[in-house]
Amino acid sequence: MNIILLGPPGAGKGTQAKRLEEKYGLTQLSTGDMLRAERKSGSDLGRKVQEVMDAGQLVSDDLIIELIAHRIDQLEGGKGFILDGFPRTVPQAEALDRMLKEKGLRLDSVIEMTVDEAALVDRIAGRFSCAKCGASYHDRYHRPKSEGVCDVCGSRDFVRRADDNPEAVKTRLEAYRRQTAPILPYYRAKGVLHPVDGMAEIGEVARQIETILGNPK
Ligand code: AMP
Repeated sequence: MNIILLGPPGAGKGTQAKRLEEKYGLTQLSTGDMLRAERKSGSDLGRKVQEVMDAGQLVSDDLIIELIAHRIDQLEGGKGFILDGFPRTVPQAEALDRMLKEKGLRLDSVIEMTVDEAALVDRIAGRFSCAKCGASYHDRYHRPKSEGVCDVCGSRDFVRRADDNPEAVKTRLEAYRRQTAPILPYYRAKGVLHPVDGMAEIGEVARQIETILGNPK
């Protein structure tokens, strides 16, 4: 099963992708995570995208398409994938179609996580995560059980994304409205688009997605 999680920054795509990995045995392909890993490794690509990412703008289609094509190529034989953060523009959606066709793969569902934009800035601005294991937290909604210690791995090191500041968040929401939202009609026309209420509690959003996808095979 191959699916796309679509929605603005802060909609909860990453959180739901992790749950779907566990429940359905799918592989999460997050272009944002891939780019952050490139930056951390200090590669040429990482240095190239640094400024654009921190400003909250989208990196070029060519670069992203090459990155994701390479990952899909490496996935032979798995149970399928969850695209998280890709595609984000119409040319990316068209390129994905061509890639899937070439490999004889199909796209089963596109889950659109709908959210109230006013709530997003608040959600995103408080996010932080464990530097060691990546577990996510929030200043107000989800603090570690023991202050300053990761619930999952016990580390005391936490990080915040450079693009989770109010200015970059505004640019990221604008990029979603102008460049990403236009791909919704593309998938609606193909009959694969399914909206879920991204403002609901995490477990409820997961239940709505599972109803759409059906039982794991
Ligand atoms: P994310 O973690 O999905 O919010 O992505 C973080 C940043 O990485 C975005 O604000 C963009 O700068 C860049 N990025 C991630 N995925 C894409 C994509 N599909 N197209 C263009 N830029 C992307």
